[in-house]
Amino acid sequence: MADSQTLVIAHRGASGYLPEHTLEAKAYAHALGADYIEQDLVATRDDQVIVIHDIHLDRVTNVASLYPGRHRDDGHYYARDFDLAEIQALASGERRGNDGETAAFPNRYPVGFGPFRIPTLREEIKLIQGLNQATGRIVGIYPEIKNPAWHRAEGVDLSSLVIDQLHDFGYRTKSDPVFLQCFDDAEVRRIRHDLGCPLKLVQLIGENSWDQADTNYDVLKTPEGLQEVARTVDGVGAWIQHLVDTAGVDGQPVSTGFVKSAHEAGLVVHPYTFQVEQIGPGFESLPEMIAWFVDTLGVDGVFTDFPDLALEGLGRT
Ligand code: CA
Repeated sequence: MADSQTLVIAHRGASGYLPEHTLEAKAYAHALGADYIEQDLVATRDDQVIVIHDIHLDRVTNVASLYPGRHRDDGHYYARDFDLAEIQALASGERRGNDGETAAFPNRYPVGFGPFRIPTLREEIKLIQGLNQATGRIVGIYPEIKNPAWHRAEGVDLSSLVIDQLHDFGYRTKSDPVFLQCFDDAEVRRIRHDLGCPLKLVQLIGENSWDQADTNYDVLKTPEGLQEVARTVDGVGAWIQHLVDTAGVDGQPVSTGFVKSAHEAGLVVHPYTFQVEQIGPGFESLPEMIAWFVDTLGVDGVFTDFPDLALEGLGRT
C-alpha cells in the first residue's frame, strides 16, 4: 500500500493507442512501461479462453459479415456460439459505438484498420512472459472472469479453466505478478474458498444499474461491506465515481472516504478507468488527474488506457 509503488494497469492493453485486447495493444503497453496488463476473458464453444471484453463479438469484429445469421434472437453474436478456429478467422479492431458502425472513441486508432485478431489467454501470457524475459522487466497480468454465472448457465466453468491455465504458466502463489478480478462477489468467494485459488484477488465494484452480476454494490461499497469483502480478497477495483464527489463548490473533486475505508479494511484500491476522453472537473490533463488521485486519495494503482500518461502523472518518466 503506502510503502509500495502505485501500479499502472494497462486497461485492455494500451487501448488508447491500439485496438483493445489485441496482442499489439499488449506489446505496446509493455513497451510504454505498464506494471500490469489486463485481460478480459470469455469462453468459446470449444471451451477455449479468449481475450475480449464483451461476451458478444459484435463491437470489435466483422462477425456479422463473416458469419451472417449466426446471432441469437437478441441480435448478438456470442463468442460462446463459435469454435476458436472460427473466432480466429475474424478480423478484430477498434471498438465501435452503440450504432455498431462508428468509432466509440473517434480520436483513437481508426475503426476497420487491421490486421488484428482475437488472442487466446495462452497466446497473450506467452507474449507478456516472452517480453518479460527479453526486456528483463517483469510485467504482471490482470485477468478478469467475465460473466461467470452466465458462463456456467452455458455449461462452462470459466473460473476453473482460467485458474488452471494460470497455474500452468507459473502463477501459483500470492506473491506472483497476477491479480485475478471479477464483478461477481459470489464467484470471487467461490474462487477463493471453494476452488482454493491462492492468487491476489480483486473484487470489482460497479453500479447495480449496470446489471454486471447478481451483486449488491450499494452494500458492498460501504465501510461494513468493504470489511466483509476483505475476508476474501486483497483489493477492490472501484469506479472513479465511487472515490470522489465532483459536486464540490469550486468544481474540485472531494473524497467520498471510500479509499480510507478500503485501506482500513486492509484492501488495496485500483480505480477504473483513466482516459483522456474522461478528464474530471477541476483537472486540465490526465497526468494531473492521476497525480491527484495518488497524492490526495492514496490509491494503490490505476486502470488506464494510457499507461504513458499515468507514468507521467506518477513522476516515473
Ligand atoms: Ca475488465
